[in-house]
Amino acid sequence: MQVTEWNDWCPGCGNFGILNAEQQAISELGIDLKKVVLVSGIGCSGKLPHFVRIPVSGVHTLHGRALPFAIGIKLANPELEVIVNAGDGDQLGIGVGHFVSAGRRNVDITVIVHDNGVYGLTKGQASPTLKKGVKTKSLPKPNINDDINPLTVALASGYTFVARGYAYDVKHLKELIKEAIKHKGLALIDVLQPCPTYNDINTKEWYDKRIYKLDWDPVVRNEEDKKKKFLQAMEKALEWGDRIPIGIFYKEERDTFEERISSASPSYKILPPAKVKIEKEGKPT
Ligand code: SF4
Repeated sequence: MQVTEWNDWCPGCGNFGILNAEQQAISELGIDLKKVVLVSGIGCSGKLPHFVRIPVSGVHTLHGRALPFAIGIKLANPELEVIVNAGDGDQLGIGVGHFVSAGRRNVDITVIVHDNGVYGLTKGQASPTLKKGVKTKSLPKPNINDDINPLTVALASGYTFVARGYAYDVKHLKELIKEAIKHKGLALIDVLQPCPTYNDINTKEWYDKRIYKLDWDPVVRNEEDKKKKFLQAMEKALEWGDRIPIGIFYKEERDTFEERISSASPSYKILPPAKVKIEKEGKPT
């Protein structure tokens, strides 16, 4: 994917913080940049692979389908470090089936949800994470739907690393992204990402007053510990209002989908990427 020289996100958009944190995390981990693939869906967040300033690969896919693309890329070449960047509408609206079923497989990829409560690219309609009763400046009436909580859905679906970050705390978010990339298994970071253009309720000022950092041990150490840490994470994920926690909620080591395939079918081999010969007219053969 070609890197663009410009960026058309609105001034003050939380996407800038996510972009900066992600670039810094990848650079600081010292990963071979040729092996990093960013996969995005449709929405303002979907442009991130175009705007990234480090030489990694990127795929801008279809609405709600970033996860199946990412999983396919990882299974075709497990050596790649695959990161999904998609909005809350993309992942928890049209893409929610993929979001849930991915949890059962524990493919070793990182999913970053740009969570701003609105569909910013299409003028600020309520997205699945906007709370019921909230009326942003882009809505004619308060939202009549209950919200989806990305953290509780991820926990219930089997994600083995579940975290929440804040787009305006780049340093903290960078560390979360580093931990998610290092984690062996499916990792979710739900990033609270203010959209100053359409969401005038969940603003920087609103979040700054409420956000606090978790100071606890989220790591599952054994089967007995698992239920305790799971319930602890679920309870904390429901905290919202005067206080909003960010940090790692849950972390568990479990066999990945790639390992399960290998042990179930010893003859199965994940093939190296196909060598596609491009003819002069540009058609693959
Ligand atoms: Fe960011 Fe909102 Fe503008 Fe989209 S519409 S670029 S999410 S501020």
